[in-house]
Amino acid sequence: MKILFVASEVYPLVKTGGLGDVAGALPPALMELGEDVRIMMPAYPQALDAARNKKTVLDLGDPFSTGPLSLISARMPSSEAELLLVDSPSLYRRDGGPYQQENGDEWLDNHIRFAALSHAAAALSAYGSVIGWTPELFHANDWQTGLLPAYLRFHHGNPAKCLYTIHNLNYTGRFPAEILPQVNLPWEAYSPDGLEFHDAVSYMKSGLYYADHITTVSRTYAQEIQTPFAGNGFEGLLLDRSSSLTGIVNGVDYQVWNPAHDPHIAAKYQPGRMGGKQACKTALQQELGLPEDPKAPLFGMVSRLTEQKGIDLILDTLPTLERLGGQLVILGTGEDYWEQLLLDRAAASPNIAVKIAYQESLSHRIIAGCDMFMMPSRFEPCGLTQLYALKYGTPPVVHRTGGLADTVRGAGAGPDQTGFVFDDAVPELLAAALEEAVDAFNHRNKWDNIVTNGMQDDYSWENSAKTYQTLYRSL
Ligand code: ADP
Repeated sequence: MKILFVASEVYPLVKTGGLGDVAGALPPALMELGEDVRIMMPAYPQALDAARNKKTVLDLGDPFSTGPLSLISARMPSSEAELLLVDSPSLYRRDGGPYQQENGDEWLDNHIRFAALSHAAAALSAYGSVIGWTPELFHANDWQTGLLPAYLRFHHGNPAKCLYTIHNLNYTGRFPAEILPQVNLPWEAYSPDGLEFHDAVSYMKSGLYYADHITTVSRTYAQEIQTPFAGNGFEGLLLDRSSSLTGIVNGVDYQVWNPAHDPHIAAKYQPGRMGGKQACKTALQQELGLPEDPKAPLFGMVSRLTEQKGIDLILDTLPTLERLGGQLVILGTGEDYWEQLLLDRAAASPNIAVKIAYQESLSHRIIAGCDMFMMPSRFEPCGLTQLYALKYGTPPVVHRTGGLADTVRGAGAGPDQTGFVFDDAVPELLAAALEEAVDAFNHRNKWDNIVTNGMQDDYSWENSAKTYQTLYRSL
């Protein structure tokens, strides 16, 4: 089947979080299964630099009066996967991130930038013959592509089905109603039965309302978003659409995330040959200036620093960590408030290292070098870092929510335990989970069993890609 996979970030070209990882890994997994997939994303400078065999293949005019829009066909840097880069120099060729300026503010024209991405995707249903490839199914992802099913409907008469995947419902792509004519959509769409959301336009709502089917990235999150706990105001619509809503857990790209051949880490290791893990811990303690103590339980976190990720819970449980003789390393970027609080705590304790940066290579060394991985997220659609931590023999400590609930097995699993799970996002329960983790860490046999279980769990993309394939076919 000809499937157009549309996303605003794709690893390794551009990535800010889990969406980029998924967009980089799911399409190749589908190709392995025999599907004809092309990946569409904006032609950001980093994407243009890294993509190979670039050729402009389609002129799409100037639909938003922002200058010419065109399609460049290309290949991924290190695979044969085919890319379609949506090129618009005025919209995408600038320094800064995919969504934000260098000072952290959102780009003021994001409504046009991502309308253009969806417009180009939908246009392929009409002009695909020019490039000899017309999508039979569209797969849109998160709010940045939420207008795609609306364009398919209002501009093209629903030429093919559209699947819409929610990676995080809390980014709603909300803009004032006045933008509707600028993005070439009729006022008819501005309705509760359409893309209107609390007196504004929401690109997320557009995706949820107009797509033929919705998926999200774990089964538990698929349930949670039909309730006020995680529905973010969309729970009514999602409950109405529950027969068209499926939870499919994300996979891991074990080519990139595998301690047996990871080029970023100090020493390689695998189940049964775990000596390298201790070397990774020592190297990490050295790198970050922590006391070089093999017995001190070392907790790690790699994360966007936002309210969602439960940073406040970690701050509140630092006294417990200190009492347990633990060490903590956090790598992240995000809201100034959390960055500053964490830096202050690190300055006050020799056992806490905080690095405010986005560093792919260091993230591997932290996941390999720590003993336990912290993920006390208030909500977590899927979460990928806990899956990486499992593979690296770094049992995760997680809140029982979303994908964390689906992928980490706490003490209740008995001999099948892979981590430590607490039920409510409150400091007392995180503190109890840390005590439980340190207690297990100090009992070698029990610890080895938990570590080995996690390393042997298989979250490769193959299974999830098969589930997507079945769903595409059913559509
Ligand atoms: P989310 O998508 O909510 O950010 P996920 O756990 O699904 O969370 O995915 C986060 C991805 O981004 C992981 O690959 C993680 O390693 C990476 N990541 C997050 N913050 C950083 C950082 N500061 N440096 C390097 N990688 C990071």
